[in-house]
Amino acid sequence: MERLTGRQIPVPGGLDVTILEPLGVVGVIAPWNFPMPIAAWGTAPALAAGNAVLLKPAETTPLTALRLAELALEAGLPEHLVQVLPGHGGVTGDALVRHPGVAKIVFTGSTRTGKRVAALGAEQVKPVTLELGGKSPNIVFADADLKTAVDPFSFLDNAGQDCCARTRILVQETVYDEVRELLAKALADVVVGDPADEKTQMGPLISRQQLDRVRSFVPEDAPALRGSAPEGPGFWFPPTVLTGEAPDSVCAREEIFGPVAVLQPFTDEADAIRLANDTPYGLSGSIWTRDVGRALRVSQAVRAGNLSVNSHASVRYWTPFGGYKQSGVGRELGPEALAAFTETKNVFISTEGPAQ
Ligand code: NAD
Repeated sequence: MERLTGRQIPVPGGLDVTILEPLGVVGVIAPWNFPMPIAAWGTAPALAAGNAVLLKPAETTPLTALRLAELALEAGLPEHLVQVLPGHGGVTGDALVRHPGVAKIVFTGSTRTGKRVAALGAEQVKPVTLELGGKSPNIVFADADLKTAVDPFSFLDNAGQDCCARTRILVQETVYDEVRELLAKALADVVVGDPADEKTQMGPLISRQQLDRVRSFVPEDAPALRGSAPEGPGFWFPPTVLTGEAPDSVCAREEIFGPVAVLQPFTDEADAIRLANDTPYGLSGSIWTRDVGRALRVSQAVRAGNLSVNSHASVRYWTPFGGYKQSGVGRELGPEALAAFTETKNVFISTEGPAQ
């Protein structure tokens, strides 16, 4: 609390100060793909700003949220300050958003559900932070270090169930064939298997439902580079890079949320920027080039909240995180994380005494 400082603003006729006040009860609604970190990066700053938290984990991943609340108690937080409400999104999540006693919602999940949460919140003019889906580009210029730039784990981490996955690999046409070959070899080498085995590099998808979703996007005969996946029980899908998708195809524009990317050529810098921005989303992206000026120009032109130059890094607790366009509203993490959990009150104190 000692760091939640307001400002003193020079004004005529008195002294003006701003006071940052907690909102009250904050509802945090978390997805299943990184259940504990995402629940924690909503909950921790909300608490630090003086609020209480009601945390609603995803249906498939309630246990880490419950453990987080146990740890909060063990750490000495007052009982009931953090409470976990496992339950169905359409019932428990919906009730949390509608409840007049909940002052703010921090929602992380799909763009579809996020729109519903925003609409419901609007009925009470309730502030919402939305961290939603993505279809992030990996922009590879011909002068880049190609081997590092086309790292398949830029879209295969967490079996592709990652909102920042670089699922659009945009490659300058002069090195397209070279990148295609590098990718084909890299995909063939990915070890897909039991996550408990140390040699495994990619595990299965989370559920039958998610597997069905990913399959529904990718026709078996689609032109693609493919790795392998185990047969038998488990929700397996092989690492896949689709090579014949038009920029306006569903696979090139929609978030699949599995180990699937599209590979597309571009001609020059302007074409790369146009393609990178040709999506409803704007969460993350990578830019690979040895030309510093170009790296800066493209970083300024791509409409996304989190870009990395010559890196596939996405989330850092130290730096702001959030999306442009339909990837979200508001920012989490970073030095301003507390600001999303306070109201600013302005107080003017007159220095002009009472009339004599
Ligand atoms: P989801 O939208 O299905 O569910 C997210 C959460 O919302 C769950 O807790 C769910 O129970 C709840 N929910 C569902 N319906 C609701 C309703 N009507 N009212 C209130 N709450 C409701 O998303 P998901 O499948 O759990 O997660 C995957 C999605 O999350 C992907 O689109 C991914 O890109 C996105 N995501 C975004 C970020 C980010 O920071 N931008 C991070 C991780 C995941």
